[in-house]
Amino acid sequence: LAGKTFRPEPSVIDVNGVKIGGKELTIMAGPCAVESYEQIMEAAHAVKKSGAQFLRGGAFKPRTSPYAFQGLEEEGLKLLLEAKKATGLQIITEVTCDRAVDLSMPYVDMFQIGARNVQNFQLLKEVGKSKKPVLLKRGSSTTIDEWLNAAEYIMSEGNYNVVLCERGIRTFETATRNTLDLSAVPVVKNTSHLPVIVDPSHAAGKSKYVVPLARAAIAAGADGLIVEVHPNPMCALSDAAQQLNSSEFDSLCKDISKLAPIL
Ligand code: PEP
Ligand code: MN
Repeated sequence: LAGKTFRPEPSVIDVNGVKIGGKELTIMAGPCAVESYEQIMEAAHAVKKSGAQFLRGGAFKPRTSPYAFQGLEEEGLKLLLEAKKATGLQIITEVTCDRAVDLSMPYVDMFQIGARNVQNFQLLKEVGKSKKPVLLKRGSSTTIDEWLNAAEYIMSEGNYNVVLCERGIRTFETATRNTLDLSAVPVVKNTSHLPVIVDPSHAAGKSKYVVPLARAAIAAGADGLIVEVHPNPMCALSDAAQQLNSSEFDSLCKDISKLAPIL
């Protein structure tokens, strides 16, 4: 279902009228995690002003350490909905388990399946049954074929609203958090009709590398970006080193709009 043999022409995924995969770039931006009312509102207004169509923010955070901030859960979802009402942005959030899917359903416009759950087949079936659009991140150690099979799991439940997201893979290199596999963009475009966007933030791991990777992603043919933006990155409760502040994000948007039109 994800392959070009099923559908030769590129798919455009429509999220409440906002298109992913057309001629224009779709920009998703916001903090790694929803932390407070003030933080998410400030982030939402800033990314909207710079041209984003989606607000991202994790309410369920899959952290390496069980002692690290785990997310505000339903309280975070409520804050995301408030930010949507204030700005009109579409909301995307990560779901990590069946309970997160059920809780998030009424609050958000798009589910994100994180890198760590790309082969959580039960969860993939669950979001497949939901019919809500899904952003499917590539795992840090999944091949492109395994990633497309994960998309197949969602689509085979009847949910064709899948967008792929390259976010870097694990290699021997340690200068960046992950190695952004930009070759995945043309490879996926050649084998699948699904839109593909790039997350330069989790690939870079350091804010100073986010802009050049974002530019490269657009040049490689990505349909959009998902970027971590925090009003005060230094105080972020997760992924502090890689988040852009509002003015850095604003210049990123101005920069990439020279490469391709933004929605
Ligand atoms: C995130 O988007 O904050 C996240 C945890 O990303 P990934 O699943 O790509 O690591
Ligand atoms: Mn993050």
